[in-house]
Amino acid sequence: MPFQSFNPPRRILMGPGPSDINPAVLNAMSRPVIGHLDPLFVRMMDEVKQLLQYAFQTENPFTIALSAPGSAGMEACFVNLVEPGDKVIVCINGVFGGRQLENVKRCGGIPICVEDEWGRAVNVEKVEQALKDNPDATVLSFVHAETSTGARSDAKAICALAKQYGCLSIVDAVTSLGGVELRVDEWGIDAIYSGSQKCLSCVPGLSPLSFSAAAVEKIKQRKTPVQSWFLDQSLVMQYWSGDGKRAYHHTAPVNSLYALHESLVHLHNEGLENSWARHQEQHQALASGLQALGIEFVVPEAERLPQLNTIYIPEGVDDAKVRSHLLNVYNLEIGAGLGAFAGKAWRIGLMGYAARNENVALCLAALKDALSS
Ligand SMILES: *Cc1c(COP(=O)(O)O)cnc(C)c1O
Repeated sequence: MPFQSFNPPRRILMGPGPSDINPAVLNAMSRPVIGHLDPLFVRMMDEVKQLLQYAFQTENPFTIALSAPGSAGMEACFVNLVEPGDKVIVCINGVFGGRQLENVKRCGGIPICVEDEWGRAVNVEKVEQALKDNPDATVLSFVHAETSTGARSDAKAICALAKQYGCLSIVDAVTSLGGVELRVDEWGIDAIYSGSQKCLSCVPGLSPLSFSAAAVEKIKQRKTPVQSWFLDQSLVMQYWSGDGKRAYHHTAPVNSLYALHESLVHLHNEGLENSWARHQEQHQALASGLQALGIEFVVPEAERLPQLNTIYIPEGVDDAKVRSHLLNVYNLEIGAGLGAFAGKAWRIGLMGYAARNENVALCLAALKDALSS
């Protein structure tokens, strides 16, 4: 039997990512490939940098899209900023904080964990205590938007504390970028990574990354070379520095970068603050609909992410059966619970292009149907 082309159905993606993609973004992706050192491509990469600076609200010259998914953005921050023997305060309130811890260990860092209950924000007082107790810590890391639980942490307060106690901050903004307020320069964030497939509604596989001057300085002062050649940002810097002397490092994923450019143009045209407000409005519409169905949220209201709604599966309801009903009858994907919430909760994403009236209405109607069938 000959192989055939793969033609996936058009699903509506309301899980933890990838999210629904604006057709204009997919369209951009099918444009002709040009050389990754072609002057036109170089110019587009410079625009991607500018648009990412806007999305991150930063003037950091080192603001790029890493040619790999969010997990690689995470790893890039740790392998560059943590040297063997460095003490790192890691906040853990879900799956992704746990992965940050894993990165610290693999870099030979000495982790100090600040743990919080799943479904809650990182406790700012505990962070301050850890900073006081560990004056020799050099880096502090946390997840701004914990996608495994739907909790949002106070990035502004935590980064201010890191600065006050002389630590560089590493912030996971994979799910937060474009969906909730995030101001890299104003909040004094030193290293931040995101992902293309969450609130930017682009194809998966790219990780926006930005380093402050202090973070770049730390990389320059390293005593040991970064153990990963590909993620060594001192090499990548030369590739993305748009001053005419771009050096070959690796072949950029040309068409994925067209897609990222397109999605960032849409974000810029909408306006960042309008995008944040849209996520909030759609979240409120979803939350009142869920309330009418008698469904409860896991995260307390003040700590909820609008773009990732974690809700308890009602008593006696079959998790897998409901999710396959949504998928098979409505082509609608919602997320299963992760880690401690497996089988206990669902995660409804309202990310980027999915944060729209029609998605919320469909999700509520489909869920109502699935729960009664
Ligand atoms: C999705 C996600 C990641 C990992 O991103 P990938 O693109 O899947 O590698 C990291 N952190 C958070 C908070 C995420 O939601």
